[in-house]
Amino acid sequence: MVEQAADIRQRDFRSYRMHIDGQWVDAADGQGFDCIDPYSGLAWARVPTATIADVDAAVAAARLAFEQGDWANALPAKRARLLRKLGDLIESEFQELANVQVLENGKLMREVLGQTQGLAAFCYYFAGAAEHLHGDTVPVSLPDMFNYTTREPIGVIAAVTPWNSPLALLFWKLCPALAAGNTIVVKPSEVTPVSTLVFAELVEKAGFPKGVFNVVTGDGSVGAALVKHPGVDKIAFTGSTAVGIEVAKEAASRLARVSLELGGKSPNIVFADAEFDNAINGILAGIFGATGQTCLAGSRALIHVDIYEQFAKRLVERARAIKLGDPLHPDSEMGTLSCRMQYDKVMHWIQVGLEDGAELLTGGRHPTADALQKGLFVEPTIFGNVGNSMRIAREEIFGPVLCLIPFKDEADAIAIANDTRFGLAAGVWTNDIKCANRMIKKIRAGTVWVNTYRRTGYSMPFGGMKQSGLGRENGREAIHEYTEVKSVWIDSGPGMRDPFNPRA
Ligand code: NAD
Repeated sequence: MVEQAADIRQRDFRSYRMHIDGQWVDAADGQGFDCIDPYSGLAWARVPTATIADVDAAVAAARLAFEQGDWANALPAKRARLLRKLGDLIESEFQELANVQVLENGKLMREVLGQTQGLAAFCYYFAGAAEHLHGDTVPVSLPDMFNYTTREPIGVIAAVTPWNSPLALLFWKLCPALAAGNTIVVKPSEVTPVSTLVFAELVEKAGFPKGVFNVVTGDGSVGAALVKHPGVDKIAFTGSTAVGIEVAKEAASRLARVSLELGGKSPNIVFADAEFDNAINGILAGIFGATGQTCLAGSRALIHVDIYEQFAKRLVERARAIKLGDPLHPDSEMGTLSCRMQYDKVMHWIQVGLEDGAELLTGGRHPTADALQKGLFVEPTIFGNVGNSMRIAREEIFGPVLCLIPFKDEADAIAIANDTRFGLAAGVWTNDIKCANRMIKKIRAGTVWVNTYRRTGYSMPFGGMKQSGLGRENGREAIHEYTEVKSVWIDSGPGMRDPFNPRA
């Protein structure tokens, strides 16, 4: 039976432990921190703060598990079998994974459920990918030479994840990394550590060899200790561009492999011929889904001048009707921000928008309803006639704040869309396929959606251009991100000539 919202909040306060080398452990010095429910403002769980010794132990366990070869050299079919078993366990436990995530970050239950119900499919897809991972035979311009490549696991992966979709973004790393035979140490966000620890119980149940999957918890300093660890061969990071740049510098200092999924300021572009209601839905979903706390949020809506006034009016009506409420409750349409720091940041950017002269069309405040007073809610906020040079159009806000920017024609739309340091995603709304194709070619972003928005899936690569990241997650590309290519040359001819006497 599905637990009711009230029951989930009435649960006993619980202390969790980290998962290192197949053991459940407290921090070496016994320290920890509380997790706060952003809807009630109450502490609901306690989690260890890993010390340097804990990070060392986790990396050592992952290293040993990798070097022993039980995992790295296992037949692909064995890795696939365990990934499928993990998928099966998730299929029966997705509700609990969703419950803790909602308590962690205040995202709507139905949005979170949509994600946790989909996690098993990532396991199944990458189980298949493990079985299909192979190199190539390669023709070369020498006779009697047989050449081929193999794809080998990289080693110990450090996965550092953010708070907005803690498990989904972990799976984007975990599944391809394990499928390719790597071992992993995960450092979830300090805002959302519990879901990863609850998930670790399923990894244990599935029977993965000890040390293959480890979790250390704590804040950015724990992430930094992990990223700096010389025993880590690759860092897979999702988070802000500012921290991503620090991670990239650290990786560069020892040439560790690195992939980065970072921030965005994605343009969602509506042409005058677009299907009006479809585009309205797409703009709203793009910015108010997950309370705007998604890297791919369509935070700049570029609207053709011919429909700008009518479109803005309708968007405002719809935004005002969005029902804020308990994220565990099925009737709620928008949840809270994830934590106090993020709430303050969003409020700061709204103030900046006002100072820079943007026109506040709706929202901008904490809601006044009594029931919402304890929660970290911000009203759905829309600024009109925003100039693309304004700070709210340039910086990632990561909250429910939409900038409406009018444009004149295709060239104008492309110039505005690309005038950003980010390049994660873009939306184009038009019924003119030729226009759509021109936009797809010219927009500098890792994903372009046409007449839809905010879609991702295990088989489609996802990642950023420019300062939105490095590398791709999901799809065929993802498993390659977790392998090294080895090139093999075999001479099956008469053999090497004497290099000093070529005629001999
Ligand atoms: P963040 O950069 O503050 O933190 C991300 C993770 O890095 C956390 O686990 C944090 O503890 C850790 N960390 C912090 N400082 C560190 C350091 N110096 N070294 C190593 N690790 C460190 O990001 P956040 O606030 O948790 O998440 C929001 C950001 O994530 C937004 O910018 C968003 O766009 C981005 N994001 C990107 C994607 C994507 O796929 N491109 C997806 C989701 C979120």
